[in-house]
Amino acid sequence: MPVDWQTAESWLMGNAWVGSLASDHVRTLCDTIGTRWGGSDGERQAAEYIREQFESFGLEGSGIEEFDVSTWESESASITLNGVQPRRLDVRPSLFCPSVDLTAPLVDVGFGMDHEIEPLTPRLSGSIALMSGAYEPFSPPEPLSDRLERLASLGVAAVISPYAAGGRRTTHGSSNDWRDNRPASVPLPLVFTSREDGALLGRLAASDVTVTVRVDASYRDGVSRNTVADLAGDTWPEETLFLGAHHDTTPDSPGANDNGSGTTVVLETARLLARLKRDTGIGPGRAIRFATFGSEEQTLQGSVAFVKRHYIDAHDEPRPRLMINLDELGTGTMKGVALQFPELRPLVQGALDEMGEGLRCHVMAQMDASGDMFPFARAGIQSAMLWRWRFVGRHPDTAFGHSSSDTPDKLRIRELKEYAGLLSRVLLRLSHVPPSEWPADELDLNAVERRIADERGSVVRTM
Ligand SMILES: [Zn+2]
Repeated sequence: MPVDWQTAESWLMGNAWVGSLASDHVRTLCDTIGTRWGGSDGERQAAEYIREQFESFGLEGSGIEEFDVSTWESESASITLNGVQPRRLDVRPSLFCPSVDLTAPLVDVGFGMDHEIEPLTPRLSGSIALMSGAYEPFSPPEPLSDRLERLASLGVAAVISPYAAGGRRTTHGSSNDWRDNRPASVPLPLVFTSREDGALLGRLAASDVTVTVRVDASYRDGVSRNTVADLAGDTWPEETLFLGAHHDTTPDSPGANDNGSGTTVVLETARLLARLKRDTGIGPGRAIRFATFGSEEQTLQGSVAFVKRHYIDAHDEPRPRLMINLDELGTGTMKGVALQFPELRPLVQGALDEMGEGLRCHVMAQMDASGDMFPFARAGIQSAMLWRWRFVGRHPDTAFGHSSSDTPDKLRIRELKEYAGLLSRVLLRLSHVPPSEWPADELDLNAVERRIADERGSVVRTM
């Protein structure tokens, strides 16, 4: 039976606004539960809340899937500037930074590029390097992890990296290449300081100053959780589309933008499509699976576990026709979809054009290992990041990721409602594209691995 799109889409957009639960989800996740570091009690509470919501919407098979996580905890960290009057500087350790207690000369290595450190080589062994995490403006960009590996290979014992924006801010960043999915395999101890204290260190680096870097941290095994639920397909029940987002946060962040926003929109999109079916009888053509992942901030361990369980180890589960990942939706309005592979672009753009909202489908030049679509792509599943203004032109007050300042006051609830309305329409439309019009699903896994290897050392272009 053809879908009455006018009825379906009016219903979805209206109910995305009036009766929205977006505010409730954000408050529960960020205020009531708070930080949701993978493997923590907060993350467990979040997974239970999400599963209960899925069930209340009438989805099928709502469940929590536990998996083993290699996790990390930092009890304390400090950077001390030694001198007549030792001074403690602003500090946040990088994620999975090993314990360190080191006093050494400070060497300013600029951005850590080859041409910058070459004349410094004799001074690097055993030193603490001051390095900007940004990209050196006159050269092709190099990933932070590559620059840290270079410094480690030259004997640098620890790195201090200042935050780019002012205001004594620091964030929890990572130091390794996420393509490897080995969280504890870090090049060397990396701690972040504020722009202000970084500038102070820069002014003193020429005058034989020593600094002391201390991090007290431990690695341990824990249990993290994914959630999952399904909305049945009416016409091709054996086929699926997939909408996912991570529900975990960095260790001290309430995670409003990253990623209470994406989790909220997964929940709202699930509610809208389930209630549309209940209230109007209009359901998806192929099934839609909704999931949230734990431990994304710990090198994507949740989505890796999910893909392994459902699409690598289990051979009877249909692989999704398309997986869309939602992350940091507080950064701006929905622009469209950024695919990891080119095959589906005409089809997805066609569906977006029919909606008449000016949404665009792009194809990324590199496979993007910075989010939960990556393990899906690596397994040969067509996948995408929702396109929003992540870095260029984003709402300025969402630039507080991976810190305790990522709070709900910086989210625009009306934009989250719009995301849920538009996404439920996109998914409903894609669910009704007949299999005969869907490009054959034939990604070559060897070619994908070759591509991942070839792209090592390149910086993913993300707008
Ligand atoms: Zn995120």
